[in-house]
Amino acid sequence: MANIVSIVGRPNVGKSTLFNRLIEERKAIMDNQSGVTRDRHYGYAEWNGQHFTVIDTGGYVVGSDDIFEGAIRDQVQLAIEESTVVLFMVDCMSGLTELDKEFANVLRRYKKPVFLVANKAESIERYQSSGEFYELGMGELIYPISSQTGYGTGDLLDEVVKYFDTPGVENPEEGIPRIAIVGRPNVGKSSFLNVLTGTERSIVTNIAGTTRDAIHTPYKAFGREYILIDTAGMRRKAKVKEDIEFYSTIRSVKAVEESDVCIMMLDAENGLEGQDMTLIGQADKAKKGIVIMVNKWDLIEKDSKTADQLKKEMLERLAPMNYMPIIFASVLEKQRIFQVMEKAMEVYENKSRKITTSKLNDVMQEEIKKYPPPAQRGRHINIKYMIQLPTPSPTFVFFCNYPKLIKEPYMRYLENRMREHFDFTGVPITLFFREK
Ligand code: GDP
Ligand code: GDP
Repeated sequence: MANIVSIVGRPNVGKSTLFNRLIEERKAIMDNQSGVTRDRHYGYAEWNGQHFTVIDTGGYVVGSDDIFEGAIRDQVQLAIEESTVVLFMVDCMSGLTELDKEFANVLRRYKKPVFLVANKAESIERYQSSGEFYELGMGELIYPISSQTGYGTGDLLDEVVKYFDTPGVENPEEGIPRIAIVGRPNVGKSSFLNVLTGTERSIVTNIAGTTRDAIHTPYKAFGREYILIDTAGMRRKAKVKEDIEFYSTIRSVKAVEESDVCIMMLDAENGLEGQDMTLIGQADKAKKGIVIMVNKWDLIEKDSKTADQLKKEMLERLAPMNYMPIIFASVLEKQRIFQVMEKAMEVYENKSRKITTSKLNDVMQEEIKKYPPPAQRGRHINIKYMIQLPTPSPTFVFFCNYPKLIKEPYMRYLENRMREHFDFTGVPITLFFREK
């Protein structure tokens, strides 16, 4: 079991400030691959060699009118259930409130270790005022801290980690495929996510079960784990169509950057549009795995040849980026949606595929012999050998006498032969030519 620490409390006490402080250094490690800061409500933290997941439940309380439905919203309760330790945060600056008391009453129902954390205790006065929170009846100890300056957080964490029975893992997401679902507005992304999240099990916590906030959500399906990157959930309030398109493009680009594999979703009635081509181009450039999902297949009048015909047309249009699988699906009729996920997993495997140098050379030297690089300016070009680099996406270096003289069509020839021999379906591959 993983160690999970959730931060609960009424709005504005400083939950996200503490959350950010706890995951700060880790975030740098997690995000260095994509260079983006993730806007999410759980993160990974470490204290004295103990690793844990932190949940900022404030992230689940959006807007003020729907904070309480009876007591605390479902998602917060689920987070509490999932937690090893709960940090119940109150605010020394504003003092005790009715809302704090309601929170305390709810927390008492759970048999979880609760730490009463009195935040914003930077000054002596406020530190001393924290005594008023004894009234909440949450036990003997109050931890005055300042999320802003970090004061007191070390003492707090010293006590928190005593409740862990495992050192945890450093990076729980490592080696787990990150899959983004992207595409233009209205193609069916939210519907797809709803079906997936309805049938599959979220590992970290069900709090991500609504698509509204979920950004990176670990799931388990087909006996495998993966992380869904959901952009559909973070819909912005945009009034005009152009804005909707604009925000959806930004979100898609961000999701692609953070993913290993993206599921590029299209509307069968519209087919491949300019924007889709742009996004696919971006994914290709960023060396991400790609699966094309043509949704709303139910709306198409078709016979036995329609799918093949359409696939052929699409691949022609995509050339030279025509290496990705295309699946015709209907979220509405739950047709082939699991194949889409399975394909995404296969593409992930293909992306990690490593070919040994000897195998690579055996196969490719044979192909080069069949069709050697055409001589340029009277020079005979000799490709001596090739290797695969240990990069996150398949990258190969061909060593030859005149690397600059190898032209685009011959590179295509080599790439196509590589794809024939090794399964790189859905994956951009990169070839470099170096002098030797
Ligand atoms: P949340 O709604 O509980 O997540 O609260 P936030 O983390 O968004 O913080 C609410 C406000 O309190 C923000 O203006 C923070 O800058 C401020 N704040 C958070 N922690 C501290 C603290 O330790 N001291 C002081 N003085 N202000 C803080
Ligand atoms: P998003 O903007 O990409 O998240 O798209 P939504 O999931 O909100 O779907 C847009 C509309 O398409 C909704 O009215 C859905 O009910 C509908 N829709 C989604 N999938 C399908 C499908 O497979 N077939 C049909 N006919 N409609 C679908």
